[in-house]
This record gives sequence, C-alpha cells and structure tokens, in this order.
Amino acid sequence: MPDNSSQNLVSRPPIVAVMGHVDHGKTSLLDYIRKTNLVAREAGGITQSIGAYEIIHYPKGDPSANSGRPPEGRKITFIDTPGHEAFSKMRARGARVADLAILVVAADEGVKPQTVESIKTLLETKTQFVVAITKIDKPNADIEKVKNDLTAAGVLLEGFGGSVSYQPISAKSGDHVDELLDLLLLTAEMENLTYDPQVPASGVILEAKMDRQRGMEATLIVKNGTLRQGDPIATKSGKGKVKILEDFAGKSAKELVPSAPALIIGFSELPQVGEEFVTGEAANVDLSAERSGEVDGPAPRELVKTDKEDLNLILKASDLGSLEALSEIIRALPSKKRVVKIVGQNAGDLNDNDVKLAISTNSKIIAFRSKTDKSSAALADANRIQIITSDIIYKLIEAVEEMLKEIEGAPILGELEVLAVFNQIKLDKQVVGGKVRKGLFRNRGNFEIVRGGELVGTGRVTNLQHKKQDATQVTEGNECGLMAGSSVAIAVGDILVARETK
Ligand code: GDP
Repeated sequence: MPDNSSQNLVSRPPIVAVMGHVDHGKTSLLDYIRKTNLVAREAGGITQSIGAYEIIHYPKGDPSANSGRPPEGRKITFIDTPGHEAFSKMRARGARVADLAILVVAADEGVKPQTVESIKTLLETKTQFVVAITKIDKPNADIEKVKNDLTAAGVLLEGFGGSVSYQPISAKSGDHVDELLDLLLLTAEMENLTYDPQVPASGVILEAKMDRQRGMEATLIVKNGTLRQGDPIATKSGKGKVKILEDFAGKSAKELVPSAPALIIGFSELPQVGEEFVTGEAANVDLSAERSGEVDGPAPRELVKTDKEDLNLILKASDLGSLEALSEIIRALPSKKRVVKIVGQNAGDLNDNDVKLAISTNSKIIAFRSKTDKSSAALADANRIQIITSDIIYKLIEAVEEMLKEIEGAPILGELEVLAVFNQIKLDKQVVGGKVRKGLFRNRGNFEIVRGGELVGTGRVTNLQHKKQDATQVTEGNECGLMAGSSVAIAVGDILVARETK
C-alpha cells in the first residue's frame, strides 16, 4: 500500500502541549479546558487522564468566512502528560509530539527559568505557540511586565514587532480561555495539518505501563492513517496487536483517526515513551535489529554481557516516562574508571524476574517508585542483591554516584587463581575450583575476572566450598570450589579479584 500518497489528504485537529514555569497554571488551564469543552461528556464522567484528551471548541464570530469551513465545532487534542520537574526531557518531548504549544506565563510572576527553558525548546523544535498570560484575576497581575519580559526573552509578540499571539486569561474564573482557544485554532490553520486516512496508522507513544489486571497498556496519539482494532502494531522496542482500542475517555472504539489519543492493550513487548509506532505491514517487519540495548523482561544474552569495568544496574520505575528519565540521568553520570551498564530496565513493580536477572548479571537494582513484593525481596536478600528504592530520583542518583566511587576506590580483599572449570553449561551457575593466592575470598561476594593482566568481566560467588563443606570465606593458601554467576565464561588461569565493600 502506498504510504505517502497525497491524494487523500484531509485536515486533522491540532495536537497541543502546554508549557511553562512550575505553578504558573498549566494544570489549572488544562483542567478548566477539559471540564468545559470535553467532547465525550456524554460518555460519563471522565475521571482519569490517559496523558491526552480531545475537546471541541466553537470559535467565536465566523472563522469559516476566510477558510471555507462550515461554522462548526472544531477539535483540539491536548497533551496532558504530568511533567515531573526533573524530567525536562519529557517536557521537551511534549513539544515534539505536539503541533502547537501554549506557553503559560503567570501575570504576577512574569518570565521565570522554566519559561526560558520552554521558549528555548519551542524555538529549537520550531514549534509554533501562543502565549497565555495567566492569573490575571490576581491583584498583583502585571500584564505589561510579562510582555516586556517575553520580549527580553526573545519572544516577539504581535504588536511588539513580532507575530506570536498572546491572550491574558484566568484559569480560575475561565475568563478569556475561549479567546485563547480561538487563537490556537487560527495558529493551527497556518500549519495546514493533514493526514491520509487510507494508510496504516502511525503516531507517537505517550505512556506505557504494565497494569496488573489488564496487562500491557499503552497510550498514544495517532498522527497519520487510521488505527483499527486488530491492527498489528510495533515500535522500535515494542510489538503486539491492537486487541483493545479505546478512546481517551475509555470508550471502546473500532477505529480512531488523527489526532485522537488512544489507549490500546495488546503489546506483548512494552514500547518506550516517545517512540513512534507503525501499524499494518510495517509492523510485521522485525524491528528488533534496530532495538537499543534496553529491554523489558529477561534480557537477551548479548545484552547481559558485561564489559570490563562495568557497574551493572537494573532500573525499575513505576512508569515508563520516569524510567526513561532515570535511565538518562544515570547514563550521563561521570565516572573515571567504571562505566555504568544498564543490563535491564522496565516499568512496573519489582518482581522475581528482575532479581533473577540481577543474580545472573551481577547487578544492583535501582527502583524509583516501584514496589517490591515480599518474595522478590526475600530472593534478593538471600542472594545479597542490593535493591535501592526511593520516591526521590536524586536519592537514587546519589546512591549510584556513591557506588561508582566505592568501586573505583575499593581496596582488594583477595585474589583467587582458577585451577579447574567443572561445569559451565549455564553462565550464571559456573562451577570452578581454585586457590586463594592473596587475602581471602568470601561467599556471596563480587569479583572481577582478570585474564592475562586484563579485566575481562565481573561475577558473583553464589556458593563457596572448602573441603566439600559450605564456607563463608576461604583464606590465603587454601583451595576451594565455587559456584559463580558471570556473563563471561571463567577460564583456567583467570585471577578472580574480590574487593572490599562497605
Ligand atoms: P502548574 O504547576 O503550572 O501546573 O500550576 P497549577 O495549575 O498547579 O497552578 C498553581 C497554583 O496557581 C494553584 O494554586 C492554582 O490554583 C493557581 N492558579 C492557576 N491558575 C490561576 C489563575 O488563573 N488565577 C489564580 N488566582 N490562581 C491560579
């Protein structure tokens, strides 16, 4: 099927993101618009947001006079993804998914650091926007100051030598929000947004998570084509079939067209937030070759491979947006000797599989707002797998920084020379024998594998025996047998180096 034939192009509603400084009224504005203009009010109370919603707005006057459009309600899709302030990337993504943005600036505060950051993102991504000067009902509102601030920040407003529209509003009283929406539609008109209803759907993943009852749930926005129930669907890291298709109000739908938000169930591998999805034949092509080194569920072998000097981590977070943010910050951490290696990451609660992966890859688990059930905690405890959990992202980052320092500087506890390899059918259960040449070797301790003077991998002792008896440690000069997990096959002659840990 031709995928960019232009004969069938029809116009589509704009997709709009709301950006601006914290507390300037983004949520209040989105809430006000949602409450007063929701398309699907007849569908019953809309309680939960899926990251985006659609409204119908009836422009004032006769906007169809010049456009040739009948005077009817026009749809607008709003991206409503909750933005944790640490996750500026997510906010930047909002601008990319969106066709247009509303830049919110509070009249009592003027331009603030995150306003500047938003302006930067909008200009960089060449996203058209209108300015909402909010909180004009407040006694200390100063609209003129906001305009001057904006000019100074490089936003050239209409009447100030530029073409960016602005509208003073109050999200509290709702004053002039209608005019703001009029401006938004006028700006959208200039963008000439279209789609082809005859091609398979494509668009962007907004959110993805594991729901205990419903399974893998993804919310997305259709940007082209027609999304239908039963369609095969794929992204770079996710794959599946649209088994259940719902609109943003939770109503079952047979098909959805741009720029509709949708909730789908049917991914068998969870996609990542911000990825593009394709459907139809394109989704049947195996995209796995293009997949990055991040996985959900058990990681394929090559991804578990530990290069030398790695600090292996498994990342968990309650949702994919946070997971991606966590992953990005951790990857960017500077370290002199060690490289942080993320051997697995997925959203949802921490389970036995995560712990098993940690055992076989000698990893630590970093969990942001993910719960750990009792059995997983016990399994981790029994295998001395470290799980670090917090609801504060910076606490986790600090912990990883500590680990990097700890490993870099930790003194050597002992060295063992491998004299025999007995069983290597499974890399996470290698059975080898050796002699402690220096210091001591401990059960459940981590070690580095040095071959020919070079670090070739890391591992972890899962069982230590001295004279066929379980031992907690074996000292210098003694022979021992050990079961160890490592992604590297241990060889005769290797030196296993154990370091002191806190
Ligand atoms: P966000 O962080 O940008 O999403 O800001 P919120 O929407 O949470 O608003 C922050 C605070 O400002 C809340 O206490 C709101 O009630 C208040 N607020 C938002 N918009 C208005 C407005 O137009 N007028 C007044 N008086 N208060 C507002």
